[in-house]
Amino acid sequence: MKQSTLFLPTLREVPAEAETASHRLMLRAGLIRPLAAGIYSYLPLGRKVLRKVEELIRREMEEAGAQEVLLPAMQPAELWRESGRYAVYGPELIRLTDRHGREFALGPTHEEVITTLVRDEIGSYRRLPLTLYQIQTKFRDERRPRFGLLRGREFLMKDAYSFDTDEAGLDLTYWRMEEAYHRIMKGCGLRYRAVEADSGSIGGEGGTHEFMALAAIGEDTVISCTACDYAANLEKAEAAWTAPEAPVREVPAAERWHTPGVRTIAELTERLGDEANHLLKTLIYLADGQPAAVVVRGIHEVNEAKVRAALGAEVLELADAETTQRVTGAPVGFAGPVGLQVPLLVDREAAALAEGITGANEADWHLRHVVPGRDFTLERAGDYRNVREDDACPRCGGALEGHRGIEVGHVFKLGTKYSAKLGAVFTDETGEERPMIMGCYGIGVSRILSAVVEQHHDEQGIVWPQGLAPFDVHLIPLAQEGASAELASRLYAGLRSKGADVLLDDRAERPGVKFKDADLIGLPVRIVIGRDAAEGLVEYKERCSKDAVKLTVEEAMERVLALLAQ
Ligand code: ATP
Ligand code: MG
Repeated sequence: MKQSTLFLPTLREVPAEAETASHRLMLRAGLIRPLAAGIYSYLPLGRKVLRKVEELIRREMEEAGAQEVLLPAMQPAELWRESGRYAVYGPELIRLTDRHGREFALGPTHEEVITTLVRDEIGSYRRLPLTLYQIQTKFRDERRPRFGLLRGREFLMKDAYSFDTDEAGLDLTYWRMEEAYHRIMKGCGLRYRAVEADSGSIGGEGGTHEFMALAAIGEDTVISCTACDYAANLEKAEAAWTAPEAPVREVPAAERWHTPGVRTIAELTERLGDEANHLLKTLIYLADGQPAAVVVRGIHEVNEAKVRAALGAEVLELADAETTQRVTGAPVGFAGPVGLQVPLLVDREAAALAEGITGANEADWHLRHVVPGRDFTLERAGDYRNVREDDACPRCGGALEGHRGIEVGHVFKLGTKYSAKLGAVFTDETGEERPMIMGCYGIGVSRILSAVVEQHHDEQGIVWPQGLAPFDVHLIPLAQEGASAELASRLYAGLRSKGADVLLDDRAERPGVKFKDADLIGLPVRIVIGRDAAEGLVEYKERCSKDAVKLTVEEAMERVLALLAQ
């Protein structure tokens, strides 16, 4: 491709609205342009990279035995009512009405469509297992679309769905998908971790893993062990813990303690000194609108995913001040577990304390000498807190570390959640009808672009991993005519005849401008054809290295072809 005709609007200025390196670079390198919040156009360079990711994914999906389909984005609301998700999906679901007044949704995901499709077409165990996938635009009216393609409202996803006759079959399909995901992540040049994850509201029994690209801007926290291969999303991560011996100490009866104006754990800690270890904090939540209380030690943070799972809730949110007042009888800051009339979840480490200090459910008062199990119920004691970096690995006791991660992929055992609701049953060998056992497997195709750029860039611009670069080679002649231009077109034709995808900067620009653009768009190899062109010499430089070398044209061609063959 000749650069003079390529639609490649690069930007010198750093776009003010972009907060992350990947967002800035994707705008500056002319890959994408915004249309509205979280909605982007892909320009030729961006489209090319997107296609490369798509092709890599297609190859690996076919390898894993999945077949490609393309399902409608516009989905009847009826379908979503049938699965029970129309109500719970909330404002993220984009809803519309057609000219006849029929309601539709723009697909944020396709469990409903695929499950009814397979239900209507397949009835016998002989036609199973089956895995179908698509690469398609998804719509989610995200509350906070941001960071360019990272969190869009219209974005490209690969979603696959598997249908098996039994759990063993699902295990095998799931394993094949996981393996394919590892190959896709590696093919994209991503530094990543596969982590155990929380099953969330998409629901279903069984396992789920997320593929996390490691990056400081990631919205998730990945906890991993430095000694073994344990890795989990913070939402799911556990700390090593063994229940201590039951305390023998006699604890006096709980007593009220006047603490005017002391509402936060920090303020209490300051008042208490050593006793701060005994602090218990009590948070009031609304789980699907119903109040519940959670108690953790003062040094710990509540893990909302664990609480949500324990309460079986779709939506969990901290209660507002009014609800807290109604539930506890006191303003925010004085809640405690004693005497509460709502479901009470007590973190196991809070439950193990010999005694604690809690709010008294009365303005300006706390309680001391509160004994878990004596003064409040431990019926629902469990693990409800976030792991901290000073905790030990639950598998091997090793040290844990935390990283930020971008969720680029997600594999999920759904079980019969959708097949049972939507009637996707098959007849087994004995003639009995059973629901199909499902799995679903997503990849954020457009999000991968942001994750890759976030991991692969320097001060000057993008440094594409070879497999994803929009072109393989950037040829930069320093003059538009004469020896340099002639040699450049010879090299251009030669490399193209060997299958290389070449970008020739034939623009009448100063060398400085050409070099800046070349660094910005970040093709793996840059070949400058300058003064030594008459002697058949060129300057060869790989984007990931600092050094340029002088080579003959033949040597340069060989190097490029060797690199492409890797
Ligand atoms: P998140 O927690 O980031 O909102 P999710 O759990 O809602 O993700 P899934 O429903 O599992 O995501 O979707 C499958 C994949 O699609 C995700 O792993 C992610 O890579 C991608 N994805 C999800 N939401 C977006 C979005 N708004 N923009 C771009 N990619 C997305
Ligand atoms: Mg989401």
